[in-house]
Amino acid sequence: MTSRTDSRSSPANGPRLSLYTTFRLGGPCRGLTTCVNATELRRAIRAFGEVGEDFVLIGGGSNLLVNDAGIDRQVIRYFSERPMVARQGNEIIVQASTRLDDLANYAVQQGLDGLLCCTGIPGTVGGAIVGNAGAFGEQIGDRVISITALDRNATERELPADELGFGYRQSRLSDTGAMVAAARLRLRQGDRTRLRARRQEILALRAAKHPDWQRIPTAGSFFKNIEPTSSAERRQAAGWFLEQAGAKNLRVGGARPYEKHANIIIAERGCTAADVLELSRQMAALVHEEFGIELHREVRLLGDWPANAV
Ligand SMILES: Cc1cc2nc3c(=O)[nH]c(=O)nc-3n(C[C@H](O)[C@H](O)[C@H](O)COP(=O)(O)OP(=O)(O)OC[C@H]3O[C@@H](n4cnc5c(N)ncnc54)[C@H](O)[C@@H]3O)c2cc1C
Repeated sequence: MTSRTDSRSSPANGPRLSLYTTFRLGGPCRGLTTCVNATELRRAIRAFGEVGEDFVLIGGGSNLLVNDAGIDRQVIRYFSERPMVARQGNEIIVQASTRLDDLANYAVQQGLDGLLCCTGIPGTVGGAIVGNAGAFGEQIGDRVISITALDRNATERELPADELGFGYRQSRLSDTGAMVAAARLRLRQGDRTRLRARRQEILALRAAKHPDWQRIPTAGSFFKNIEPTSSAERRQAAGWFLEQAGAKNLRVGGARPYEKHANIIIAERGCTAADVLELSRQMAALVHEEFGIELHREVRLLGDWPANAV
């Protein structure tokens, strides 16, 4: 299999990142190369290195707000339509280009427990590991044994989980810039019938609470939940504070909070990335005025944004 490249001479004519993000927002980039496995990823990184082209890496684009002006860099999209997964006993080896829900489904079909928390979350395994994605108090980082990481020179290293600094919706990988090519995960034997039933329950729960991202442009929860100030407390939902502060009444251009979940921004017809950012700024300001709490963004910004962006 070979990687696919969509490349033009100037970023203004380059592929639009709105085609590759679930917000359906974002201007052009210099060129976009899709890689489906570690070999292709390594090759693409080397090729850009040889010609001195800078690049950014994305996965499913489901946690990104890309600037309307786009980015004057190459983009590598590490994404596979087909699950690239292998089982070894209770361990799974997965190419990080695999869609997260394909991995969660594979585990269920194999009768392996431990990834139900990833059911229905869009994006790739790589994006999930970098942001330690999850739900219901569990996250993918809990299952990671090690990753195969590539640096900007395409040098490969095996990094054990205890070097990845997993925390709530974060890992050390964001600081180091290491790219996740593949991962080894440890699961446990489960009851296939029970796992299948739970998967269906979670999918139904998500369908009831979240917008269908295939139809409604969004990047899911915009802000992180609020960390407890003592070990006795639980993490508090940012959506609750936003709801109480009246954030659902806000609207900026085509951007507005989703009617069933105040922490989810949806982009309606004509919406720009600047609308979304301004709305998020106003939402955070409301919560700060009402409760004195600072909200921190979960969605990542890509492109040149003002230094004072939330
Ligand atoms: C409807 C909806 C519901 C969601 N629900 C949840 C939820 O319940 N829980 C949750 O945690 N998240 C949720 N999300 C957010 C999102 O799906 C996850 O954060 C997902 O893991 C992001 O993966 P991605 O491949 O789309 O990453 P992208 O958005 O493409 O990238 C995000 C970041 O990861 C980096 N990155 C991507 N791939 C790699 C890689 N291979 N190596 C190194 N860095 C990489 C990018 O550079 C970028 O900084 C939801 C999103 C939507 C749209």
